[in-house]
Amino acid sequence: MSTITATQEQDVVERAPKGLFIGGQWRDATGGRTLAVEDPSTTETLAEVADATPEDAIAALDAAVAAQAAWAKHPPRERGEILRRAWELIMARTDELAILMTLEMGKPIAESKAEIAYAGEFFRWFAEEAVRIEGRYAQAPNGAGRMLTMRQPVGPCIFITPWNFPLAMGTRKIGPAIAAGCTMVVKPAQQTPLSMLALAQILAEAGLPDGVLNVVTASSSGRTMGPLIADPRARKLSFTGSTAVGQRLMQQASEQLLRVSMELGGNAPFLVFDDADVDAAVQGAMLAKMRNGGEACTAANRFHVGERVADEFTTKLAERIGSLKLGRGTQAGVDVGPLIDDGQRGIVRDLVSDAIAKGATAVVGGQEGDGRGYFYQPTVLAGVPADAKVLEEEIFGPVAPITSFDDEEAAVAAANRTEYGLVAYVYTRDLKRALRVVEGLETGMVGLNQGIVSNAAAPFGGVKHSGFGREGGHEGIEEYLDTKYVAINLD
Ligand code: NAD
Repeated sequence: MSTITATQEQDVVERAPKGLFIGGQWRDATGGRTLAVEDPSTTETLAEVADATPEDAIAALDAAVAAQAAWAKHPPRERGEILRRAWELIMARTDELAILMTLEMGKPIAESKAEIAYAGEFFRWFAEEAVRIEGRYAQAPNGAGRMLTMRQPVGPCIFITPWNFPLAMGTRKIGPAIAAGCTMVVKPAQQTPLSMLALAQILAEAGLPDGVLNVVTASSSGRTMGPLIADPRARKLSFTGSTAVGQRLMQQASEQLLRVSMELGGNAPFLVFDDADVDAAVQGAMLAKMRNGGEACTAANRFHVGERVADEFTTKLAERIGSLKLGRGTQAGVDVGPLIDDGQRGIVRDLVSDAIAKGATAVVGGQEGDGRGYFYQPTVLAGVPADAKVLEEEIFGPVAPITSFDDEEAAVAAANRTEYGLVAYVYTRDLKRALRVVEGLETGMVGLNQGIVSNAAAPFGGVKHSGFGREGGHEGIEEYLDTKYVAINLD
């Protein structure tokens, strides 16, 4: 990839929509308020987008409610075709979308392109699922009556998404909701609203009727979205973000008994057994740890390595991680971008300091990066003691803490020693061990000899404090369908 020029960057930002998208119209926030979007690699303001008031958010819900009945009746084939056209537009505009995403989120262009392809896949997948919503017809056990089971859209949805995957965390919800016949109000993270606004423009161009998708951007998420969660016209809340915010939103959602899906934090263990192919494990670790600069809920948070291969694994991983180039994501040759903001960098810095103070060694990295942005060096920590916070807390940065284990039972116990349960990675060549370990892991997903699990065709989601509900796969659309049973009297 060649370096993106300043003019290219400016053109993309200028062309990007910056208003609220409500009822098919782009409009300013009430009172003309705006919020600044920052480039985390320079700390400079990239753009100003509308900063919605609670009244603006209610107007977005009004539009979603008004569009719901007609949208639920819209032919499934056409709902699918809109998604398919949107997927084609996303793919055709990958270059431009990637620049926008890199500028607001920081990840290198190649990673933005990978996210855009992944995000688009949810539209392609759910375009195909829209026409496969089925019911059942059965004879009642006593033979007298009949039972008809039908699936219907849940109704207007509220979606709240994080900044780390600005597009994909939206399309995982928007795709199945459109396919199922639901309308929605989406609130992207305030750090990365531009990608979601660009997606709204694409969906409108693809023929999505007015009011089906509404997007509000806001600096105060709680104040803006609180009234929507309390509004009895909303029927579903799907949230992706931190566990602490998810817990708060669940409490709020209980007032209206809103249906809820929660995609929350993670603390993924990466287990390498003595019988593993160490080179393959290092390759997988690079993906599991360094994808998105470690700012992923699926990021390998801690490496538990069998004692016999721990030194080899550490040396090889440190060599790979130490050779990564840190820098601005639009520059050629950059492998790792900045963290999203100073707060996130502070968390990473504190976790590394704590581990080192307790006896860990920084084999590579361990320092902030140069430059004005929120850079932190890709880091490998060896000999991390069991009481280091870095093993317990979500790192959300390019830091790989390594610790060792002596037997399988200890490995599984260490893996499960967390309140989170999103994903785990296991490297072993022993089939029986693989199945035993996979069955013993308390997670919603496992990467077996594979460092990446995300796939639009698979059910993504967690257990324990990582939440519930599944996005993608055949399960993904279930989150947006209610079941209605009809008892039929044949007498
Ligand atoms: P966050 O919880 O701070 O914010 C997520 C979203 O919630 C943002 O849009 C934010 O504006 C909004 N928000 C915050 N407080 C709110 C409130 N009181 N009311 C309504 N909305 C509110 O999380 P983040 O820092 O943006 O994202 C990082 C977290 O997301 C990590 O914990 C990560 O593991 C998690 N995550 C999980 C998944 C998954 O699928 N399980 C995927 C990506 C990220």
